Amino acid sequence: MKKRLLKVFTCLFLASSLVACQSAPAQKEQASVKVNKPTTTDAKPTKPVSKPAETSGIMQVYYLDVGQGDSIYIKTPNGDDILIDGGKNDRGDDVVAFLHKYHVDDIEVMIATHPDADHIGGLDTVLENMTVKSVYMPKVTHTTKTFEDFLVAVKNEGLKLKEAKGGVSLGLPGVDAHFVSPVSSYGEDLNSSSAVLRITNGENNFLFTGDATMEAEKDMIASGQDIQADVLKLGHHGANTSTSEAFLSQVKPKFAIVSAGKDNQYGHPTAEILQRMQEHNIKVFRTAQQGTIIATSNGKTITFNTDPSKIEQNTVKNNAAATPEKPVKTETPKTNQSSTTSLKAKVDNPNPDQYQTIHLDVTGMKGATYSAIFHFTSKDTTYTGTVGTPLPVKISRAKAGFKVLIDITVQKDGKEYQTQTSFIPK
Ligand SMILES: [Zn+2]
Repeated sequence: MKKRLLKVFTCLFLASSLVACQSAPAQKEQASVKVNKPTTTDAKPTKPVSKPAETSGIMQVYYLDVGQGDSIYIKTPNGDDILIDGGKNDRGDDVVAFLHKYHVDDIEVMIATHPDADHIGGLDTVLENMTVKSVYMPKVTHTTKTFEDFLVAVKNEGLKLKEAKGGVSLGLPGVDAHFVSPVSSYGEDLNSSSAVLRITNGENNFLFTGDATMEAEKDMIASGQDIQADVLKLGHHGANTSTSEAFLSQVKPKFAIVSAGKDNQYGHPTAEILQRMQEHNIKVFRTAQQGTIIATSNGKTITFNTDPSKIEQNTVKNNAAATPEKPVKTETPKTNQSSTTSLKAKVDNPNPDQYQTIHLDVTGMKGATYSAIFHFTSKDTTYTGTVGTPLPVKISRAKAGFKVLIDITVQKDGKEYQTQTSFIPK
């Protein structure tokens, strides 16, 4: 089993990068990194630069709420789609559903940060359900069924793994996206081997760290690469093994994202890391509290779809998480658990003409205030309404033939209830 797995893996890599394989014995030493000069042939653009810009200058980063794990979707200004990790095995369907919801036609670049199940678990499902054009992963291996499923799915897609390592560029137009880690070899230490991607859109920088450890952070700093980022996805779900003082002083983030499950058994993020965020005056967003977090960069400023967590709450929450016998009081039911609520929504005209006014009718929690996000193809627009009172919405922005999903959320007594409807303009 292990042998077969290794063979599949080696073949995938051999075929993809002979150069990398030949130089493998030298990997014990620190690899030299030239940030702007790709070090392998893999770094060439995967497609011509001719795709029309769908959202000129706007880049969106979705930190998906996949419970305990990571999954991040990025739409570049040129309309290219990047997926970093896919959550656990049982979250693959959620990730695919999310991508369909946002009309993602194909994935230009898939990145498996490292072979742990909370990162690659759902990627095989994505590979089976969507067209994926390239897959990057650091040169590490694992012996799990989850990892084997992933490798088989890559092979079935007709792809060869490309190596993710410091200095390798994704070669996508409109943004600078390249790996800043790993810059060394960490043997069996999968977390340290995590692929770390830095994306620059204009003046805005994002860093995606996987589960990179302080050891990897130290090597990134020593490599002399520019690792500054406005938004830092905290390494290893906010565990103490990542996000050193030294790393924070180099990255200098204004915002941090913690991708971790609610009341997870690991106590992620730790009180220590949250305190460090507070000391550095960094605003923290947590998928366990805000759900999917959307950062929108226009090249100058970055805006979020939600307010950051309150640090006081963080500390309280974290203490509760570290003591599993005391359940946290404020549960937040999500769409997929909404059987407990009677919240329902529909529109009075599912196929309206453009520039027509339609009415959104939300029922089930009479008198409650809701927010409704209309996911138009050009942008998201949020309306506020009252349950039981039809809300008129002029759909001037809607593009004919494209489904417009509407996410409706009611906040009541510290709980969150959600429902969804849609319409397709004629
Ligand atoms: Zn992890």
